[in-house]
Amino acid sequence: MSQSLSIIRDNLARVRERIDQSARRCGRTGSDVCLVAVTKYVSNDVAAAVVSAGCGDLGESRPQELWQKHEALSALDVRWHFIGHLQRNKVRRTLPMVGLLHSADSMRLIEELNQECVRLQRRLPVLLEVNISGEQAKHGFSPDELENTLPSIAELSNIEVRGLMAMAGLEGDLDDARREFRAVRVLRDRLSKVTPLKELSMGMSGDFEVAIEEGATIVRVGSALFEGLP
Ligand SMILES: *Cc1c(COP(=O)(O)O)cnc(C)c1O
Repeated sequence: MSQSLSIIRDNLARVRERIDQSARRCGRTGSDVCLVAVTKYVSNDVAAAVVSAGCGDLGESRPQELWQKHEALSALDVRWHFIGHLQRNKVRRTLPMVGLLHSADSMRLIEELNQECVRLQRRLPVLLEVNISGEQAKHGFSPDELENTLPSIAELSNIEVRGLMAMAGLEGDLDDARREFRAVRVLRDRLSKVTPLKELSMGMSGDFEVAIEEGATIVRVGSALFEGLP
C-alpha cells in the first residue's frame, strides 16, 4: 500500500507539473485548472491513496461504482464528480453523492434531476455534455440541440448550469482533438450570452495538455495517475 502511495504521489506530481506547463503556455496558471482523478480503473484502497496524495476531486463514470466507492471512502473529504451516462432510474440513489455532474446529456435526464433536487431541497451544479465529434456511440447534445434547449435548461429552478463537458473523438489524433476542444470553447463563449458558462471539462490522459491550451478549466485524468502500479 505505501508503495502504491509513493507511485501515486509521483504520478500526481508529474501530471500537475504538465497541467501547470500547459496553463503557462497560454498565460494561465495550473491552479486555474481543476484536476479530477478518475478512479474507475482502481480499487477503493488506491482511490483512497489518491486522496491522501492530495487530490480530493474524484470522478466515476458508472453509478454502481460511485455508490460503492462513495461508501468505502465516506470518512475522507472527497468531492465526487459523475462523468458517465446516468440513467434516469438511477438518479434518486446517485444524486445525493454527486458534487458536480459532468454528463448532463439530455433534457429528460435534466428534468428528472431537477425534480429530484426539488424533492431534496438542494441545487445541483451540472455541465452539459456536448457530442462534439458527432460519433453515434457518444452521448450528449449536438451543438445545435444545445443552442435550442439551453434557454429551457437555464430556467429550471434547482439546476445550476456551470459549463460544458466534451470528449474528443476516439479515432482522431491530437490535432483533431485540438480542433474539437476549440469548437467546444467557441460554443461555450457563444452560449454564455444565454446563461453564464464558466467551466469547460475536457481533456483526459491522452489529450489534457491540448485541452488546457484550448481553454479547459477541468481535466479528467485516469490512467496517467495509475501508471506503474503493481
Ligand atoms: C475514463 C474516463 C476518463 C479518464 O480516462 P483516461 O484516459 O484514463 O485518463 C475521462 N473522462 C471520462 C468521461 C471517462 O469515462
